[in-house]
Amino acid sequence: MSPDYVREARRGLGRRRERIRPIIERLAREHPDATIALRFRDDLQLLVSVQLSAQTTDVNVNRVTERLFEKYRRPEDYLAVPLEELEHDIFPTGTYRQKARNLRGTMRMLLEDYDGRVPTRLDDLVRLPGVGRKTANVVASERGAAQGIVVDTHVRRLSQRVGLTRQSDPVKIERDLQRVVPRADWARFPHLLIWHGRRVCIARAPRCEDCVLTDLCPSSRIAASPAVGMELHEVGAGE
Ligand code: SF4
Repeated sequence: MSPDYVREARRGLGRRRERIRPIIERLAREHPDATIALRFRDDLQLLVSVQLSAQTTDVNVNRVTERLFEKYRRPEDYLAVPLEELEHDIFPTGTYRQKARNLRGTMRMLLEDYDGRVPTRLDDLVRLPGVGRKTANVVASERGAAQGIVVDTHVRRLSQRVGLTRQSDPVKIERDLQRVVPRADWARFPHLLIWHGRRVCIARAPRCEDCVLTDLCPSSRIAASPAVGMELHEVGAGE
């Protein structure tokens, strides 16, 4: 990629801090329905749903949890059945052996260390078996206490394309986003990127011609240049 095009794109679009507000506002108008697709009624159901959602779709998880949550209502319930029974009950979500072990470990720790409740602090959430930073961020954000920004595959791709980060490591991407996204938007910002990524800025074929961010997105400008093509993620992020 020609560095000239990159510099030109970055110069013409303005700094990240200037672009972030219109980016959020436009995406919020475009995707007013951008919320979590998992269905849950309390903190425990939220935690279990997010744990089960690894490597599968939210629709699939909802199908499984509809019956699961009738049977397993408290942390104790997950420990009261044989491991094989829990594996069977979550089987359709995939990697069921690992997920069942993590769920039981999580329930045990909730009972032993947190009075059977889902903790609120990110540092406590990531102690739970099978709960990484992404899962912890989702749980905290959905409870209205976002302490970070969820970075999944869509958030990673769009943050790079829109020029909000140069990083590819999720932790470093999150750090870059935390610097520019207003804290009040930490919970909804990933949802906006996720829904925009599913509907418009699709991984293999971004629909820049239908995108509300074309004049704010360096990747769109570069895409318009026949000399450069769609080397989207290589665009840098101006402070
Ligand atoms: S302009 Fe294109 S690359 Fe940029 S966010 Fe929109 S669809 Fe994605």
